[in-house]
Amino acid sequence: MLFTSIFEILGESLVLVIGLILILLFLVIILGQILIHKDKLIFPKLVIFISDIFYTPLKWISIKLGFDENMIDQMGVDVRNQINKNRFKKIDNERKILVLPHCLRSSSCKARLDETGLVCNVCGKCTVGEIKQKAEKIGYKVFIVPGSSFVKKIIKDYEFDSVVGVACYEDLNLTMMKMNKFSPQGVLLSKTGCFETDVNVDKVLKKIGYYDVYPKINSDNNTDPNLCIKNEEINS
Ligand code: SF4
Repeated sequence: MLFTSIFEILGESLVLVIGLILILLFLVIILGQILIHKDKLIFPKLVIFISDIFYTPLKWISIKLGFDENMIDQMGVDVRNQINKNRFKKIDNERKILVLPHCLRSSSCKARLDETGLVCNVCGKCTVGEIKQKAEKIGYKVFIVPGSSFVKKIIKDYEFDSVVGVACYEDLNLTMMKMNKFSPQGVLLSKTGCFETDVNVDKVLKKIGYYDVYPKINSDNNTDPNLCIKNEEINS
């Protein structure tokens, strides 16, 4: 009799816990939709907490409900970008790293691979060179990595306080999840795949704060001093 009552209580508690978890997962999916479609961040820390713990079931449920397969990853990346933004900005660039994916390189890239990733010599055949050069110019250490094992090695071997990553939705979200303590910021690839992927260079430069150091010249507004001189000469 006593055992029957204990099992009944345990069974009811289990059903209650599963019910609560399901309600939380649905709530996170609704908040994710609001974030993606209305650009409104509601309970961001709760969203991140739940989506990190229940990443796989959450993704499974959202796909079963007919949402885009990237929805949960997009939500994770967007929320982390928002909640880490201010902390990230306060950290010196010399204490930040930029992690680019190996797949961004040109198919005719001749750069060699070492234990930290691709050693880009800025040959000009792909966007990696430009991003690397500009990021290093403002103090970042740049890594071009073929996979997550390299990211683990970087975390183990290098000292840094913050990170900017470039990747596809899933890789970016999972990497930002793993590097949560480094106030990560992420930029999505504009073209995904296994090789010759692409990223909007402007978005990366904006994210790493390049334009805070070297403000972008807007030729339409004649903010380029050389352009102003030319216009004055033309008018005189
Ligand atoms: S810029 Fe760097 S990564 Fe791109 S092709 Fe040249 S060496 Fe390879």
